[in-house]
Amino acid sequence: MHPNPTYRTALDHPIFPLISQAASNLKMDSYVIGGYVRDFLLNRGDAKDIDIVAVGSGIALAKEVARLLPGKPKVSIFKTYGTAMLKVGAIELEFVGARKESYTEDSRNPAVENGTLEDDQNRRDFTINALALSLQKDTYGVLLDPFNGREDLEKKVIRTPLDPEITYSDDPLRMLRAIRFATQLDFTIEKASLDAITKNSDRIKIISEERIVDEIHKILLADQPSKGFTLLHKTGLLPYIFPELVALEGIEEKEGQRHKDNFWHTLEVVDNISKTTDDLWLRWAALLHDIGKAPTKRFDKKIGWTFHAHEFVGAKMVYKLFKRLKMPLNDKMKFVQKMVLMSSRPIVLASDVTDSAVRRLIFDAGDHVEDLMTLCEADITTKNPKKFNKYQNNFKLVRDKIEEVEARDHIRNFQPPVSGEEIMETFGLKPSREIGIIKDAIKEAILEGEIPNEYAAARDYMLKKGAELNLTPVK
Ligand code: ATP
Ligand code: MG
Repeated sequence: MHPNPTYRTALDHPIFPLISQAASNLKMDSYVIGGYVRDFLLNRGDAKDIDIVAVGSGIALAKEVARLLPGKPKVSIFKTYGTAMLKVGAIELEFVGARKESYTEDSRNPAVENGTLEDDQNRRDFTINALALSLQKDTYGVLLDPFNGREDLEKKVIRTPLDPEITYSDDPLRMLRAIRFATQLDFTIEKASLDAITKNSDRIKIISEERIVDEIHKILLADQPSKGFTLLHKTGLLPYIFPELVALEGIEEKEGQRHKDNFWHTLEVVDNISKTTDDLWLRWAALLHDIGKAPTKRFDKKIGWTFHAHEFVGAKMVYKLFKRLKMPLNDKMKFVQKMVLMSSRPIVLASDVTDSAVRRLIFDAGDHVEDLMTLCEADITTKNPKKFNKYQNNFKLVRDKIEEVEARDHIRNFQPPVSGEEIMETFGLKPSREIGIIKDAIKEAILEGEIPNEYAAARDYMLKKGAELNLTPVK
């Protein structure tokens, strides 16, 4: 391979000549580095995050670039890191001064001093992330690739520029980044790296939960997330992040009865769902849908292995897991909980799909009923093609039935056809227990199909229920 090929087309966007000019005004050298260059060479579309290294002050270069831009955009400065950020339309430019780093045992924040481009490339995590393109006028677009990252891109390998032992121990976040890039790009991690990660896996403890979760999100959003989880498992990182998943591994046999390996099953489900949805939280639901199975596993001589109420236990575990990983305990968490809690409901329906059961499913799942069906379909991992088709087909019937029932009964965003106020006015009641009883009875009657989801029928039903409670209408 030619040592210094030129990639001028990577620098077609007018922002690059402008940065080049700004750097030349400051008599500084500057380079595009990292993800942008990597993704250009991989043809991964236009990256919107562009990292610029200045041999000198990154903050000064950012300010000069802003000065040359029409409208003089605001520069965000992060003094502690010596970096600066600038937005130009959809593009985010990140400026950093070239630097040399040295690490201590107990922190991933190194001591930093100014350095050369080579020093800066040395501190990068992977050879494919150390690629730099010159922005100097005379060498514009020339690739600087001291570690042969271009060859690694072709061979699809993740390799560290320096000794992997030191690289991962210095900053253990890199272990997750290696696994994340391998998953996103479908690369392999070279053996020395994999060994070093395995050896240093316990150092992940010094990484903040937020950073870990960022990487997990990216793994989950890849085409085949199982690749990442398999690597986390193989390197021994998984127990530090998801002990709940590790607990699902293994097959037990008693009296000739075996249950499936719920860890590997879970990974299959995550891959399956990733073929049909890009929704991060639905993918989370797939990852966690069976976590209640480890603590609820029992063997019963008559019925074999059971995981009684694992959905309920699992939903509670979702909360604890989100909390431990410092993820927001918001509506996304509630959505994941709901999916886990309801994950077996459509399966019960598939064998006996009655209108009232479908109405209850729609009532309980609300707007998430399709997501729930998507999860259940992904949950089919049987290797028996006959069974596979049968289950798929059953869920297809449930989906059709959901559509039919919803079109007729409008259960999805159920609003009681008779309001609490109307019940109070009708019977001359103050806020009281009776109102709740009547409202609930109307809802039940609709879900059971005793009455249609309509005002007149619901009002009649209200009067009937009122009479049962010895209430008399006042008007
Ligand atoms: P993407 O943005 O697609 O996740 P990226 O390579 O741009 O990929 P960033 O996290 O944006 O990743 O980081 C930009 C660059 O900074 C990387 O390409 C790499 O050179 C360097 N880098 C980031 N994090 C680390 C780290 N923990 N250790 C060493 N170098 C790093
Ligand atoms: Mg980036």
